[in-house]
Amino acid sequence: MCEFCHKHGEGKTWYLQAKNYSDDLLSDIGRRKFIGDFFEKLPTRYPNMAPGIEKLEKAPAFVQKAVRRSLLRKQKIHHFGQVVPIEEIEKILGFVNSVVRLACVCRKMSVGTEQRFCYGVSLGAGEVELFKFIKGLDTAYFLGPETKGLESLTPADALAAFREHEKQGMCHTVWTFQAPFIGGLCNCDGTDCLAMKFQLKSRIATFFRAEYVAGTDPDLCSGCRECLRLCPFGAMAYSPSRRRVSIDARRCYGCGICRSACARKAISIVSRASVPEAAETWL
Ligand code: SF4
Ligand code: SF4
Repeated sequence: MCEFCHKHGEGKTWYLQAKNYSDDLLSDIGRRKFIGDFFEKLPTRYPNMAPGIEKLEKAPAFVQKAVRRSLLRKQKIHHFGQVVPIEEIEKILGFVNSVVRLACVCRKMSVGTEQRFCYGVSLGAGEVELFKFIKGLDTAYFLGPETKGLESLTPADALAAFREHEKQGMCHTVWTFQAPFIGGLCNCDGTDCLAMKFQLKSRIATFFRAEYVAGTDPDLCSGCRECLRLCPFGAMAYSPSRRRVSIDARRCYGCGICRSACARKAISIVSRASVPEAAETWL
């Protein structure tokens, strides 16, 4: 189990605990200020982050290590995520009452257009506190006249949309807005999602790996390599001599999206804890 399960889930999976989605947590004034600043200021702050990251990448190793450690500590407090396979998304959508689809702030900054891959979830019925709060913010990029705004979806429709995102190679994630409050579910990719770019390209940790790890069954795998194009984490390799694909558990994030490409159902996920070489690898 990851450290959030111990800290925020009392030893159970932290993102499956209804209390971590509650309006009570959202009533905290400090948290509301953080969320307000996040949505209102991130689009203008991001262009100023790029030179800082470039500078960090050229700094001596000990400076990089200290800065990355400090950023990680802060991120875990304020805004941190975890990869979750589709089964866990299904469980979350099974107990929340309200789902809203909204424009992705990352894609707006990296691509410049509205891409609707982010979902707010809440336990409240009707127009819940989180969305009332978002509507009160000064955020043109997902509430302005050129956007579709906040679209209400049924949990079943949201799950169908997540399955479609998965076929496109997007990995599902849950996100805190000051832990343990979970305010969103996202669909990330390594090209345009800032969190994933930070994690994979700049080595600035923004999310934990999933509680799972994937593996292939060599008796079922035909070596077609269809799955290779979906793995965003470079965890899969094709062996020409065995004519099979295998997964490096130490690199696997456990997102499970490779499964959607495999017609032979040769890929499955198992608990990370059951795979010794990956059990303690979270970042
Ligand atoms: S898609 Fe399935 S059968 Fe094809 S290489 Fe990948 S694991 Fe093997
Ligand atoms: S091999 Fe692991 S990281 Fe890559 S797509 Fe499959 S589950 Fe995700």
